[in-house]
Amino acid sequence: MNNRNPAERRSRFLPIAWNCLVNRRSPMGLIHFVTNRCNAKCAHCFHGYGREVEQTARTGLFSHPGDAELRLDELEQLARHLGPCLFNVNLSGGEPFLREDLEAIGRAYLGLGGAASLFVSTNGSFPERALSLARMVAVEYPDRVLFLSISLDDLPERHDRARGIPGLFENALATYHRAREVASNVRCLINLTVSEYNYRSAAAAYHHLIRDCGVRNLTLGMARNEGFYTASKGLEAEVLATLEAVQGFLRKDRRAGRLESPSEASGLLATMHEAKNRLQTQFLENQRRQPGYVLACRAAALFGILGPSGEVFPCELVPRSLGNVRDYYYEFIDLWHDSKAEAMRTWIATTRCHCTYECAWTYNLLADWGCLGAMAGLGLCTRIGRPRTDG
Ligand code: SF4
Ligand code: SF4
Repeated sequence: MNNRNPAERRSRFLPIAWNCLVNRRSPMGLIHFVTNRCNAKCAHCFHGYGREVEQTARTGLFSHPGDAELRLDELEQLARHLGPCLFNVNLSGGEPFLREDLEAIGRAYLGLGGAASLFVSTNGSFPERALSLARMVAVEYPDRVLFLSISLDDLPERHDRARGIPGLFENALATYHRAREVASNVRCLINLTVSEYNYRSAAAAYHHLIRDCGVRNLTLGMARNEGFYTASKGLEAEVLATLEAVQGFLRKDRRAGRLESPSEASGLLATMHEAKNRLQTQFLENQRRQPGYVLACRAAALFGILGPSGEVFPCELVPRSLGNVRDYYYEFIDLWHDSKAEAMRTWIATTRCHCTYECAWTYNLLADWGCLGAMAGLGLCTRIGRPRTDG
């Protein structure tokens, strides 16, 4: 077991808060694309797996074509040099469980990197590997959290056809239910992505998941118009309208207690998490309808992207590499404080860069004093306005 004692937890809080609100020089969140490989073929994939894309171009997303994936021993070195404020690491892909060493990679980020949580986004096609990772976190890191986000976007047959894997819906759903039983620090979510390929059936899929499949925790997203995926012109309004309609069902189901809060936390933490999500949804809805600068972006400051072969990027939307960790002997913080990253931070600030990239918004909100105040206000209203059942 690798539990942190209360004193250790307290000693981490102040540097993290200082970094988040004042200094902003150390990453709190990292999205690591552990591989560009995938066994599915989704048409909305920004890697282009569902489309006729040249293999060389496909493997070039977040890495140089042909470059080898970072090995476990390289990642173990890297994990030691991510700074004192690392909070969450998102292991993504491609399909991350195609890497047989994903469990060891997770262990490196939790044990050597000190991350408080891991978030793994998977298509759910490797149930045994997912369960093994869940058991490892439950046994070895009971004070940390594993979020297992499993994609289910459509009704069963349509989902399997869209992803090109027979039986995937059932497999992914079984993974969700089995992993939920592992331990309280393993939190499983179903993620439903609305795109031009499922917007007609997305609401039916949502109701099927909640009413018939026993899903208790669900998040929503919209296919991002980037990478090798270009959304068809003319359908944006309908896709957005579907997303907002399903968001309405989701809010209603959460209020009625049919769905849990995404964090599954309780007490004050859950209230603050809910308040952050509400604020984020409001900002994103406004931003999709009327794009414009409202908040400083903390990409390349509080969070960043690590590609499969070690290239580092500020976010998934700006394809300008800040360098490769292999050239910095895996000293991530050295790369983060070097001139390219500094120039990127200046560019983001001076261009007042803005977008609807959800992963950035979490950190943008947390690093803004005004938004923290708004979250506290929202949280207070929620707690005053409902019967007290916790904490
Ligand atoms: S599962 Fe994810 S990475 Fe794989 S093809 Fe689908 S969207 Fe792309
Ligand atoms: S605003 Fe969006 S596109 Fe610009 S740097 Fe931030 S996350 Fe990237």
